[in-house]
Amino acid sequence: PSASPSAGLTIRLCEPRGFCAGVERAIQIVVLALKKHGAPVYVRHEIVHNRYVVDGLRDMGAIFVKELDEIPDDGQPVVFSAHGVPKSVPAKAEARDMLYLDATCPLVSKVHKQALRHMRHGRHVILVGHKGHPEVVGTMGQLPEGAVTLIESEEDVAAFTPDDPAALGFVTQTTLSVDDTAGVIGALEAKFPELQAPASESICYATTNRQEAVKAASPGTDLFLIVGAPNSSNSKRLVEVALKAGARQAVLVEGAGEIPFDAIPADGCVAISAGASAPEVLVNGVIDALRSRFEAKLELVQTAEENELFPVMRSLRETPLTKA
Ligand code: SF4
Repeated sequence: PSASPSAGLTIRLCEPRGFCAGVERAIQIVVLALKKHGAPVYVRHEIVHNRYVVDGLRDMGAIFVKELDEIPDDGQPVVFSAHGVPKSVPAKAEARDMLYLDATCPLVSKVHKQALRHMRHGRHVILVGHKGHPEVVGTMGQLPEGAVTLIESEEDVAAFTPDDPAALGFVTQTTLSVDDTAGVIGALEAKFPELQAPASESICYATTNRQEAVKAASPGTDLFLIVGAPNSSNSKRLVEVALKAGARQAVLVEGAGEIPFDAIPADGCVAISAGASAPEVLVNGVIDALRSRFEAKLELVQTAEENELFPVMRSLRETPLTKA
């Protein structure tokens, strides 16, 4: 049965959705760096995981690189992405006398500090996260080789045999599924009763809030559309959360062009949310595309209010902008 049988399509729009304060700040840093220094501004890795955002910044004069080696010594700044970087990266930039701007989200930096704190207390660090994700690479790279063990699942917990089970502390990636992570942490705590938690929760407010809203909107939904990039961790988690919470189908779409219209009953219910790196313009495109094909009414499913704002670094705030 659909949510509103005879009244056309119901579109449930989740709030909060889309850009978080860390993503807004990272994009601002690139834009302000371009204004202050002129083009090009180099950006190491995708500043945030969204092609639309990356292409927009590229059009403004940003050059995206994988590693610092690709950047010439031309005096132009390099920005590090919101996901954070291993310590070796700023060290390398300093050795080359490069001007760098670190757009690491303050909430990722907080996790870095918690990992260092565990180490200072003599604990081996467990990082719960997804292998290969830039944030995981960055967090592992805060500590010396061998000081961190990555745990991805409860199976990894079963297989993990630390040197000293009484001296362990954990942190997690900021964009994990709140519920799945609780399972992994529960398994760790059952196996290692002396495991130390970080002083504050690693999963960030934006991840938690977006998952809560998706959970609330899922029951009775025929199709849940999550606007986000295929490499965006928090967006992928939203798809999983929707399916677990009762959506009949859930898919990740990069924009209106990927909507599976065949999966939408004309009198059914479609819910929409967006990952923390997906701009609102893409969400609006999805809503417009649905409205152009269906008789539709929009409902807001709001579970939290967000007022977080992370200011950019002082050097970009206070310097007069001279170049357009
Ligand atoms: Fe920061 Fe969370 Fe946004 Fe990541 S998802 S940039 S940790 S606020």
